[in-house]
Amino acid sequence: MKKLFKCSVCNFIWEGEDAPAVCPKCGQPHEKFVELTPEQAALVYKSEKTNDIHMKIVTLVDKMIEVSKQGIILDLDPACVAGFKAAIEEGYIIKQRSKAEIENHIGKGKW
Ligand SMILES: [Zn+2]
Repeated sequence: MKKLFKCSVCNFIWEGEDAPAVCPKCGQPHEKFVELTPEQAALVYKSEKTNDIHMKIVTLVDKMIEVSKQGIILDLDPACVAGFKAAIEEGYIIKQRSKAEIENHIGKGKW
């Protein structure tokens, strides 16, 4: 597990043996970085894969919603259109659930 350094200005997390010369996100100097404790770093590493899965779910649901909209436009029959509309509504719930989890993780330093 490499060391992690967080920019105290923008919260960008840098992985490496030392903090970068300048923050890749906000351009602040090296001195603005604070090394995360091993406990804080463990939270970041432990949650990385799970956060990625949540983001992939959001992306996949966006694709599902787009496909469902195409089905609504085709308008083959009422049952199909109702199914596509339900998929859009359910997709919204799935997306919001994953986004809420990501927000909870960030609030706990797990990102
Ligand atoms: Zn920064």
